[in-house]
Parts: sequence; structure tokens; C-alpha cells
Amino acid sequence: MSSVKTDYHIHPNYSIDAAAVHIKEYCYRALELGLSEICFTTHVELDPVRREKDNLVMVNGDKVSVFDRAWLDSYFNEIMRAQDSFKGSPLRIKAGVEVGYCPGCEEDIEKVVNNYPFDFVLGAIHCLDHIAISSMKESPRYFQSRTLDQVRRDYFVTLQEMVSTGLFDCLAHVDLYARYESRYFGPEIKCLHQGVIEPIFKEMAQKGMGLEINTSSHRRGLEEFHPSKEIVALARL
Ligand SMILES: [Zn+2]
Repeated sequence: MSSVKTDYHIHPNYSIDAAAVHIKEYCYRALELGLSEICFTTHVELDPVRREKDNLVMVNGDKVSVFDRAWLDSYFNEIMRAQDSFKGSPLRIKAGVEVGYCPGCEEDIEKVVNNYPFDFVLGAIHCLDHIAISSMKESPRYFQSRTLDQVRRDYFVTLQEMVSTGLFDCLAHVDLYARYESRYFGPEIKCLHQGVIEPIFKEMAQKGMGLEINTSSHRRGLEEFHPSKEIVALARL
């Protein structure tokens, strides 16, 4: 059986937390690795409470506001130039974005995703209550003062809302809370999704939304990918 290798979650140097590696360099590396398709997914965070912290992108080494849309012209131009250079190669290059969902920011998300020709819009929950649960530094502030039930409610209510917006093609690392939360709640965290994720998967299936298998957890020493095998099995039902 032949398999097609792709990577649909790449943060080029436009993401403020990414390595200073250009789009073209990723394309060369993807060719070397025998990938047939890649998609760039620069981070876009629009929560106004976190404006100073992460409503930012990097353009030519400078931090600029994500609301200053000039960065998108530069981003698309660079991707188009890469697509031109790699024409005739086995590599296909796509333009995407990873939007950190924040309730109430739907209009701003629409302004980004509906006004530019994105091939792929990945949606993620990186923050709950304006605190980055994806961050080793920030996440203790969120988890230390909440019960497991509160976390479950916060996360899955937000996830349900996010799916209902219909703004996203795919959900990124759907059990991201497992990255740092197990330090506070132990193995129980593995069951957090039970009974709440099933209706969300049903709606995703109706909408034709994808579910990302994110392997970055291995880099961080976790055993499972995001999401866990148990969650993937539920998504298949
Ligand atoms: Zn993410």
C-alpha cells in the first residue's frame, strides 16, 4: 500500500513563537523528506484581552499587529512565490492559517478567513479565560484554580461553539489540555472528553470538518498524539 505524506500544520517565521525559518526553506525540507503536500498555518490570535501578548505576527523580523492586514498580503505573496518555484516538483504547497478561537471574536476571524484565499483554516483552542493553556509558563495559572469539572465545561463548551461557527475546516490538537493538565489532575484527564465530545464529533461530521492528528506531543515527551487513540476511535464512530 502506498501512502501519501503530508504536513498540514507548519508555522513559518510569520508566527511569533516559531523558528526564524522561511517558507521556501520549509518547502526544500519537505521535498527532502518526501512529502507530497504541505500547508502553512501561521498562528492568528485575536482575543483583545491578549492584544499586547499575542495578537501579533512577524513580518521581516518585526512584530506587527495581526489586525494590520498588510501582513496577509506579504504572507500570500511569499507562498505564491514558493508555489511558482516548486512548480514541476512533486511538492504541492498550500496557504493556511491556525486561528486560536476566542468566543466573541467571530467577526474578526471572518475578516481574516473570508477575505483571503485560504486553502485551509485550522481552528484551535489555545486559551481558556484568556490564559494560554498551551503554554508551560501560563497554564498553571489556569489549572491550579479550577476543578476538573470546570475545565471540562470551559473547554468543551468553547469547542462546541467553535464548531458551530462553521468558520473552520479542521480542528487542531483537540485534546491540547492533556499537554500540561495531567500535572494537576493525573490520569483522570484522559477521560475528560467522555460523554461531551461525541455530539461535537457528530456536528463536525455533518459539517465535513476534519480532525487533526498532531504529533508534536512526542517532541514534548507525551506518550500519545493529540488527540489520544481513544478520542480518534470515538471520532470514527
Ligand atoms: Zn495550535
